[in-house]
Order: sequence, then C-alpha cells, then structure tokens
Amino acid sequence: MGRKRKLSQAEQDNLKECLADTGGRCSDQAVLKVWNKASELRAGAKHATANDGRQLTAELNEPCLRCFETHELPTLTGDTVRFCLANLGELLQEATRTSQEWSLVLERAVSSDGGRMTCILYHDEVTCGNILAPRKSGKVCMLYASLMEMHASLSVENAWLCIGLVQHQDLERVSGGMSRLMALVSRELHKHSGFHLSLPSGQKWCSLRAKTYFLSDAEAQRATWSVKGSSGLKPCLFCCNVLSKSCLQDVTEPFCSITAADPQKFLPFTDQDYFQAADELQHAASKTKRQQLEKVLGTTYAEGGLLVDPVARVHLPPSSSCVDVLHVYFANGVASWEIGNMIKILEEEGISLETLRESACSSDWRKAATAQNASAYLRNVLLHPKMFDETGFKGQGRDAWSLVFLLHYYVLQLLEDRQQLARESFSLLRALCSELRCLKYRCKPINEAAILDRLVSLQTKHQAAYVKSYGAEAIKPKHHHRFHLAESTLKLHWLPNCEVHESKHRHVKGGFLENQKKSINKGWELQKALLGRLFRQTVLDADKFGLNHWGAPPAAVQVAKKASWEMRQRLQDDTLCVVKELRLVRLSVKAGDVLLFDTVGGVVTQCLDGRLAGPWFLAKRLKNKISQDFGSLWTATDEDALLQPSVDHGLLLPAFWQFVGDKVLCLH
Ligand SMILES: [Zn+2]
Ligand SMILES: [Zn+2]
Repeated sequence: MGRKRKLSQAEQDNLKECLADTGGRCSDQAVLKVWNKASELRAGAKHATANDGRQLTAELNEPCLRCFETHELPTLTGDTVRFCLANLGELLQEATRTSQEWSLVLERAVSSDGGRMTCILYHDEVTCGNILAPRKSGKVCMLYASLMEMHASLSVENAWLCIGLVQHQDLERVSGGMSRLMALVSRELHKHSGFHLSLPSGQKWCSLRAKTYFLSDAEAQRATWSVKGSSGLKPCLFCCNVLSKSCLQDVTEPFCSITAADPQKFLPFTDQDYFQAADELQHAASKTKRQQLEKVLGTTYAEGGLLVDPVARVHLPPSSSCVDVLHVYFANGVASWEIGNMIKILEEEGISLETLRESACSSDWRKAATAQNASAYLRNVLLHPKMFDETGFKGQGRDAWSLVFLLHYYVLQLLEDRQQLARESFSLLRALCSELRCLKYRCKPINEAAILDRLVSLQTKHQAAYVKSYGAEAIKPKHHHRFHLAESTLKLHWLPNCEVHESKHRHVKGGFLENQKKSINKGWELQKALLGRLFRQTVLDADKFGLNHWGAPPAAVQVAKKASWEMRQRLQDDTLCVVKELRLVRLSVKAGDVLLFDTVGGVVTQCLDGRLAGPWFLAKRLKNKISQDFGSLWTATDEDALLQPSVDHGLLLPAFWQFVGDKVLCLH
C-alpha cells in the first residue's frame, strides 16, 4: 500500500464526501479509519493520513468560516481574548445556499413584513467531555441566534444557528466578562443598516429591527446585564418593587415579596432606570460608593458591559429578556419542587414511591408518540428513585412535565379527601401544565394578550394555593419569575422553551471536544473548528428532519407508501401516501397515537399526506367525551373516521392514556 503517495482527485473527493456526510456526528479519525479499511478492498488503494483528513475538513468548513469575523476582547491583565462572531446576514446567506429547508423558511420570513426581521439571541454554558471529571477547558458558552419571523420553526433546533462560542476559561479573563461580549454582539448585529439575501425568488433587502430579543435561563440573564439576580435584594430583572425572601416580613406597599400572587402589583424597573443606574455606577466617586450603589440598584458594574455601552444597550436592553417555560417550571423549577413535595406527602400517608411505581407499571399506560406500553419508561425513568432528591424531581424537563399529569391521577385516587390543601395546589399545577401544553402545541402565533389570560389566572391561583399549602418559606425566586412568562410569550409570539437549545447542546457535548484535543487550549482555533462543524451539522439536519412542517417531514416522505386506491379516490388525490409520521407545526403524530381535537377524538390507524389533499388521519373514532379532573374519558368505537387537521384546531396528544374496557382514559 502506497502510504506516502498523494491521494488522487477522485479519492480526495470521495473522502471529502464521507467527512461531510457525517456532519459532526463522529470524529474525523473514525471516518478516516473506516475509509482506509474499505479502500483496502481496491487494488492499489492509497491510505489517507490524518493530515489529509484535517485538510479536507478545513476545506469543508471554509465557506461557513468566511461568514465569521475575529474580534479582540481586552482582559484584566492587558492582553486580549480572540472571539469569532458571525456576520448574521452572511451566515443566513450560507444557510440558504446549503439547505433547501432554510431557503424555504427564510423566503417566508423575509416576505412576512417587507424584509424587516427581529433577531432572537440565546446563550448558555455547556459542560463538555466527561461530566464526572469536568475539565475547565470543557466549559463552553454557546451563543445561538434565530429570527422571530421564522415563528413556526423556532421549536426546531436546526432553526437556530450557532453564531459564536467561547471557552469559560477565556471568557472569565475578559474585563467585563459576558456583559462585554454581549455588548460586542449587540453592536455588531446592528452595525449595518441591513443586508441582501439571494433567495430562490430573487435578491431581497433585509433589515433587523432595532430591538433584539434575548432568551435564556436566569444565570445567563444575570451575566448578560451584569445584575445580581436571584441572590440580590432585588431578585427580578423586570420589577422594581419585588423584594427577596430575606425580607419576607415587614414588606409594605408599594413593595411586595416574591410570594405575591397578583401581577397587577408588580412595578417595572424600566430600561431607562437601568441605563441611569449603570451611568451612576460608572461615575461613582469611590469604590465604597460604588459598592453601596451596586447593592441598592441590584446591578454590578461591568467594564465595557452592555449597560454602559450607549449603542449596544439600546438594541439589547433588559426589557428584551425573556424567561422560558423549561427553566421556570420543569428544570429545577416550580413543577419539579412540587412533585417532590407531593411524593413526600404520599410517603407520610403511607404510600411509598415504590408502591406508586408498581401501581403505575401494572396499568397499561401508553405514552404519546410511542403508542406502546409505557411501563419500562415509568419504571426506569419517570418513577425511578434516582430521579428524586431532597428538592424534587431531577430528570429531564419534558419528563417532569409528563409526570405532573400521571402523579395527579394517582393523587386523586390515593389521597381522596386527605391533605386537602396540597391536593388543591397540585390540581392547579396540573391545570397549569395542561394550559402550557396547549400553548406549546399551538399552531398559530401567540400575538394577543387574551390568549394568555387563562395562563395568568391559573398562575395567580396556583401561587396563592401553594403558599397556603406549603407556607411562604417554600417560595423561591422562580415562583415570581414565572409571572413574566406571559409577557415573554407575547414578545416572541411563541411560548419560549429552551428545551430546543438544551437538546442542541448535545452536538457540542458529544464527541466535539474529544475531536479537538489538539486545539483545546487554543481557544480561537477550537472556536473555528467547532463553528464549522456545528454549522454543517445544522444545515444537514435541517434538510433531513425539516424546519417547518404541516405534513410529512422529509425523512418520512422518503419511505412513504402509496395509499390504497379507495383512499386516493376518497380524498381525490392520486399522490396520496401513507407516511410514518405527520408533523403539525410542533406536534408529531404517528399511527397508534390518540389524537384529540377540540371535541373530536380518534386512535390513529394511518397517517396520510398528498400534494393536493394535504395531511389527513385515518382513525378509529372516539365518542362521548366526558371531561374529568385528570383530563378526559372517551368511548372507543370501531368506526373509521377521516380527520383533517387545521391550524384552527386545538390539536393535542394526551401525555398518557389507556384503554379501560371500552373506555379510553386520557391524561392531559
Ligand atoms: Zn441551561
Ligand atoms: Zn418581576
């Protein structure tokens, strides 16, 4: 084997294709190994070297990296940290060039308001590599961006582009830290008045609206504006009169404590208030004076930070921040803790977690989108003792969300008339989770406050019931922060949900850092290597899984089977196919699922999609809906029904359901 010989052009192209196709899913070394092994089957095969691999990957990354610019951030010790930041217009153009899905979605977004678009930013810290032996170099801050006008796609992870990333060890050297970095991002985004996008329909002029929105957990919010957050006297970014738990007693009007349940009483701390506070801090006469001011204002002075940058702060003021449903409710949030409280109460009443688990597993519960018996999931995930600790449920956010419905069902059965206060609070929590689920799966944009009235009223009732049941001491800052979920939803026209981003993090977490051992201590090179890979993975997956779907996603279309002659006749569409899955904006439905429309229900037997007919379901009709405290009860029939979904329907899959005789019991 001619190890030393250079690869032929054909071989280079072939290897490059192999490296490109894997996106970032496996390491270059792994691809090389397989490619070399397979090439041994050919006579006179040449081996590719690690260097060949590096060169070809660099070529693959090159078009994407051309959209990035390197900036230098000053450090406390006088040197600089290099930071690669995307030019958003150019990166969107590259996404359009490389992905059909992106060009379709951008075409729609651009035409929705004459090319004016609103940028949404998100950042979070991700720990990569071995979680049991975390290395400082493995802590990376990821910065993603998308556009509000891509509305229906925002809950798809491939609709978010990574526009920059920086290792924690570098960021903490930057004077002014995250706040300074975000000032740079804000300024750069709005440096130009707009940009051209070449779309299939022609060249379009696009511009970003002056205000950018920001979505994150509380920690990232605190770092962005350099505010004290939950630990300070003023635990809320948005309110000026809400005081921390340390002042539960002697709170007099107009102040209120974080236990307060009436959103009408919260007074805003405006952007102007923040700008003024930051200016005062910047010009404080002495260090002592500055520290006093910091305490009162709830902000910390960050040199070159977002709040002291007169241009950057206008584009990204504190009022642009959005809280999200995952962090306030389901990831160490309001629901996670109350699940924990309820498990403890059940134990005190003689019903152990083990009893609960056995009882749930012996029923024939089925879970949305799997349609199979869910007992393995209940036994090993949802009700496994390792998922609980002193504070509550520790599992994934989506699991906490489902568990509320299941636990509530058993609370109704097992506690009957005991523990009335705790039961009342938990019933309101279930109602809240149900309302949040409807908002999550809503097809149309949420652009009127009235759509959120029920959410607001349930939150108010739940807050009061929770305090009554567990006492003011049990209230945490997130119990207050959730009151800003409604206004955050109205800002984005979408129920903000960081599940999307947290799931996207796995691409960095997985093999990426291991792939990059050589550059792990060279921040700037690591940034470039990862940015290129992440981009390629995003556009590849966007085309594979689809960005915005009303019908069968691309992967399901590829393996679709022609529908029966009778069905094609009935729906008058000769292109009609039976598909494995139908995607209705945010809802994914498969055969076997129970699908509930407002007053109609069915057990799906076939998902159908055709060019003329659009998506349809063939289902066994469910009849005689009876609303229940846990959801609804239906009568199963053998009657075939053809159901056509519409964006005006409240489409829903129950979190869990089971057949009981001829009845179908749905938890939602
Ligand atoms: Zn997070
Ligand atoms: Zn507040």
